[in-house]
Amino acid sequence: MKKEMTGGAPPEVLAEALNKLSDASLVADADQRVVFANEAFERVTGYQQDETLGRNCRFLQGPATDHATVEAMHAALTTGEGFRGEVLNYRKDGSSFWNLLTITPIRDDQGRLHHFASVQQDVTDEVRRRRELEEALAEAIRQRRSRDLLLDVARRLGEATSSGALGASMSEAIRQLAGSDRAALGVWDDDASRLRIAGTSGFPPHLTEGTARFQLSPTKSSALAEFLVDPTPRLITALSSPFSRPVLQLFESDAFVAVPVHADGHLRGVLLAIWSAGAPMATISTDLADRLTGLAGLALVAFETVRLLDRVRQAADRDALTGLLNRSALERALADTLTRREEGELVAVLFADVDRFKRVNDALGHGVGDEVLRTVARIVDSAVRDRDVVGRIGGDELIVILPRLRNRAEAQEVVDRISARLDHPIHAAGQRVYIRLSIGFAMSSEIGAVEDPDEAAAALIRRADAAMYRVKADRSANRAAETDMDLLALDADLHGAAGRGELRVLFQPLVDVSAGRVVCHEALVRWMHPRFGLLPPSTFLPLAEDNGTMTEIDEAVLAEAARFAAEAERLGADPSVSVNVSTRQSSWEDLIAHITESFSRDGGSFERLTLELIETHLATDMHNVQRQLTRLRDLGVRIAIDDFGTGYSSLSQLQDFPVTELKIDKSFVHRAGALGLGLIRAMVHLARDLDLRIVAEGVETEEQLAMLTAAGCDRMQGYLFGRPVPLDEALSNLAAREGPERRFSRAT
Ligand code: C2E
Ligand code: CA
Ligand code: CA
Repeated sequence: MKKEMTGGAPPEVLAEALNKLSDASLVADADQRVVFANEAFERVTGYQQDETLGRNCRFLQGPATDHATVEAMHAALTTGEGFRGEVLNYRKDGSSFWNLLTITPIRDDQGRLHHFASVQQDVTDEVRRRRELEEALAEAIRQRRSRDLLLDVARRLGEATSSGALGASMSEAIRQLAGSDRAALGVWDDDASRLRIAGTSGFPPHLTEGTARFQLSPTKSSALAEFLVDPTPRLITALSSPFSRPVLQLFESDAFVAVPVHADGHLRGVLLAIWSAGAPMATISTDLADRLTGLAGLALVAFETVRLLDRVRQAADRDALTGLLNRSALERALADTLTRREEGELVAVLFADVDRFKRVNDALGHGVGDEVLRTVARIVDSAVRDRDVVGRIGGDELIVILPRLRNRAEAQEVVDRISARLDHPIHAAGQRVYIRLSIGFAMSSEIGAVEDPDEAAAALIRRADAAMYRVKADRSANRAAETDMDLLALDADLHGAAGRGELRVLFQPLVDVSAGRVVCHEALVRWMHPRFGLLPPSTFLPLAEDNGTMTEIDEAVLAEAARFAAEAERLGADPSVSVNVSTRQSSWEDLIAHITESFSRDGGSFERLTLELIETHLATDMHNVQRQLTRLRDLGVRIAIDDFGTGYSSLSQLQDFPVTELKIDKSFVHRAGALGLGLIRAMVHLARDLDLRIVAEGVETEEQLAMLTAAGCDRMQGYLFGRPVPLDEALSNLAAREGPERRFSRAT
């Protein structure tokens, strides 16, 4: 064996020679057990020569020895090849050194491997130097890349003309610098005190929408507030903080690195490098922290630019007078709100119009008018919630978008709150001005599914506008009812209301003061709505005129009027009755058919019936109206001009119609003093000249009664004599009056 190993030379000579080598040297057998170690080996490793004998060569390895290198070495040795490589080895005292190891297999003549000879060189210093150089090089490359990237970002920031583009450039840079798969730029909104996302990179499409809507408000979370004041980059996971979980959920991420950016002690935004769920675990090395801090410096410029751009854009979106959104911005905002609303979430549009604003302008001048509008805008803005959007879309018209509602009642609450704030006079340019808003609103549920958001927004504004007009018109009639009810539901409910017996007809007496008796009753309709209760005619008649239910209503009222006439006759009282006819009669044929039917069926004669028409009606479609009225008059029906004095028809025109009486509008009766008296006198004279009866409406007080008597008018109607009451009550009142004096009793 020995002979083979030494290849002929005596072993002592070889040992001697190996001991002379300055490099450490080992000889091991085929099983890698040490058979010889030279003196230099002892010097390098601290192991005595005889300590090593019989041990496996592995004894030099230690905890930090690179496994891959050891594997490669073993692989080489088992196949009988040589090995040369750097291995981290350990001395006897536990200290490590880099060992440049050269192992040579030794074979016999037949090529059979029987020993390994190895040389170990301590190359620790060299390896360290080389590693340092490598790191320095890598760092130089990285820095160059970072620098190039930052330069690129800076260039793109200069080119970006929208905050969206800036957000996108910045987040792209964050992603590249951090090596994350997603990134976002959060921008601090000073006005709203919240953080929003200005741009993202690497987000899958299904997340972009939620992210764009994302907002964080530090007022809601002290943990978040604390986090945002500290500008050091931090790794956030689900365990980090109470606010992290929802954010991670939104980003579908396990971890993100956040770098709050400050300027002048104020938060400007946050850089977010985000690792998607399941991505390799993120860490935050000092190197990454440094790079992100570098980017934060550039971000500062970006934030300033974003703020500027937003401001410029805002100015274009704002109404110069009030600072509210202008029409186009508001329509855009509404379309946006409609598209983004969630399942089951309602959006309301409030349409507010200043009542008689023109009067303010005319009386106080445009300067004060502007001031009033500014104040009203401020009041409305302060009465709504943070998330609501207020805009001015016309001279004195404001719109409020109310997102995220659950029901109509919530919209109504806002309407009430706005109205309540305007209960007091406002001060404008040293003047005290009473302002009232007519506010109507429409709910997104009224327009169904949104296909084209712009069209939906316009439709909703139109509906709110229409609702506002109704509110304005119905104001004087019944404020309480009008505020609670859904005019659009009313519209639908009105169909078939007559058939379902929901209409009530009340009768108000008309008296002849000189004769001291009731001479007629006026039929006044009400609607007993299943939800809203008894509604006055002004709330539903305008709807009826539009939706074609007027004919049904006329039919029901005429039938009741005929019943009244028949019953009154049975009591021996005056059976005269008057019925109001819509100003927009869609079908005269139907009307005449109903009259004929009702008044012949109940055995009454047409002479008992007076139809009341509003003056303005005569002016439109004149010839047809003339013809139809003549037909009715020929039957014996009497024709009264209602609300006389408020229309515009010329007096001579009256002669062309078969009119039998005039009803002086209550506004003349309520106008006190000489002027009122003079006007009424003129009307009484006119009536006499035309051979017409004259009736004064709305008589409420003894003074009015006296004035009318003095003016020569003795037919009257009003609360002083009796309010409108149900048919049975009207009949029993009539019966009670049929005493010897036949006097009317005065209602209180
Ligand atoms: P109108 O024809 O001028 O009816 C008189 C209105 O004045 C009634 O209001 C009545 O309740 C109210 N009134 C009566 N006495 C006084 C008073 O002393 N002082 C005051 N301030 N008001 C008094 P109502 O019932 O709310 O009706 C409002 C209007 O609705 C009517 O005005 C009429 O134009 C219309 N209307 C009522 N019933 C019908 C109907 O069956 N068909 C049609 N087409 N219109 C109707
Ligand atoms: Ca009337
Ligand atoms: Ca009237």
